[in-house]
Amino acid sequence: MSTAPVMVDVRGVHKSFGAHEVLRGIDLQVRAGEVTVVIGPSGSGKSTLLRAINHLEKLSRGSVSIDGELVGYRRRGDKLYELKEREILRQRTRIGFVFQNFNLFPHLTVLENITEAPVSALRRPSAEAKGRARALLDRVGLADKADAYPRQLSGGQQQRVAIARALALDPQVLLFDEPTSALDPELVGEVLDVIKDVARAGTTMIVVTHEIGFAREVADTVVFMDDGVVVEQGPPQDVLDRPRHERTRAFLSKVL
Ligand code: ADP
Ligand code: MG
Repeated sequence: MSTAPVMVDVRGVHKSFGAHEVLRGIDLQVRAGEVTVVIGPSGSGKSTLLRAINHLEKLSRGSVSIDGELVGYRRRGDKLYELKEREILRQRTRIGFVFQNFNLFPHLTVLENITEAPVSALRRPSAEAKGRARALLDRVGLADKADAYPRQLSGGQQQRVAIARALALDPQVLLFDEPTSALDPELVGEVLDVIKDVARAGTTMIVVTHEIGFAREVADTVVFMDDGVVVEQGPPQDVLDRPRHERTRAFLSKVL
């Protein structure tokens, strides 16, 4: 068992949309440098959980801390008050998010996509941000695409740019929401290889994916969610190969 400090601390998180309670009491701890893979059926609340961690969704109850700092709220006494937008944006620069559909800025070049946030949010000098962006492009195997526009790239290349863009902020945590599910099958491998490389470099990550082979290879912890709760979690060899719960077994029999 790792003794690294807890980097992501999700405590008693509930989230409702109207009368629909989508997250029903989630507790999740991810230690620094560890990779947690979240699996579960469509509609079980995986995306909502990632969005709650990033405060793209307000919580109905509970709290999320990154590196000991409450995300989206300030505590006064036993009450939580939502932070101002500026402060939330500052916090988000510490939490990288890679979306299913890449979400690159279509009107910016690859290089500009990567330098935009470091320059505008972190006030890094442009030349420094460009140098770093080129190094990151090299790392994801796209050194020759700096001046291309997203539409000129394959889905796999666009997602690798999105990963470089997330890394450009030197985030403490990287969140991936089904990073390969919008890709043609032959492009999945190149994106998973980049994510594996980032994981090996020691970045703390939470990855929502249906790629069970990836989970087996890279995850320190696999979390199975269903219907807004964590049904079971543990090392991949336990959760994937010896699941304790019938719901986990039923899900795995469909995706394996
Ligand atoms: P998953 O990512 O596991 O497929 P989601 O977190 O996207 O699940 O969604 C969980 C449930 O929450 C679904 O029933 C979905 O329809 C609902 N939901 C998600 N976002 C919203 C929203 N903004 N408003 C209303 N319902 C939502
Ligand atoms: Mg989802």
